[in-house]
Amino acid sequence: MTLSILSRKSAFVYPLGKAPRTAVLVPWFRQKDAVRVFNEGWSPEAAVFAPEAIAGTREQLLALARTAPEVTHALIAVAQPGQPWLTAADRDQLWRAFHVPVFQQLVSESGELLAAECEAHDGLHLHATELPGYALDPTRCACGLATPRIIPKKPAQKVQAAAASRSQVL
Ligand SMILES: [Zn+2]
Repeated sequence: MTLSILSRKSAFVYPLGKAPRTAVLVPWFRQKDAVRVFNEGWSPEAAVFAPEAIAGTREQLLALARTAPEVTHALIAVAQPGQPWLTAADRDQLWRAFHVPVFQQLVSESGELLAAECEAHDGLHLHATELPGYALDPTRCACGLATPRIIPKKPAQKVQAAAASRSQVL
């Protein structure tokens, strides 16, 4: 009994209000409303469920891009602290395959939402009270929220900025 309380999982938090029919491909969350958890990842059962949104790890979503089942609402890449996030190239690949918005989330191993990307797609708003090891941007986000955001590394933009400064010198 105590053990089941300790191991209690959180429900998946959809990025934009009420969750549509959503397939979650990792066992970190409990099921709630229209969100179904498929512990073994994408499967024939998940396909029959015909999800409008899919949440999974970066690797799961990229693997799914090869067959790209029809999704009408969104993809959500979930990562635990220390796991890789989507890169700009990953996002391009997922957009070409699915043509729906992609959101990155950081969650604990029991599914608690730690940080989540908003519609502005400019970093992850912090939901946890503290999250050691991540740099935070305290400026107001374009979405209107003032909560601090984790800003992922943006190598592509750094390269562009470096190229721009070089061209200024020349
Ligand atoms: Zn925002």
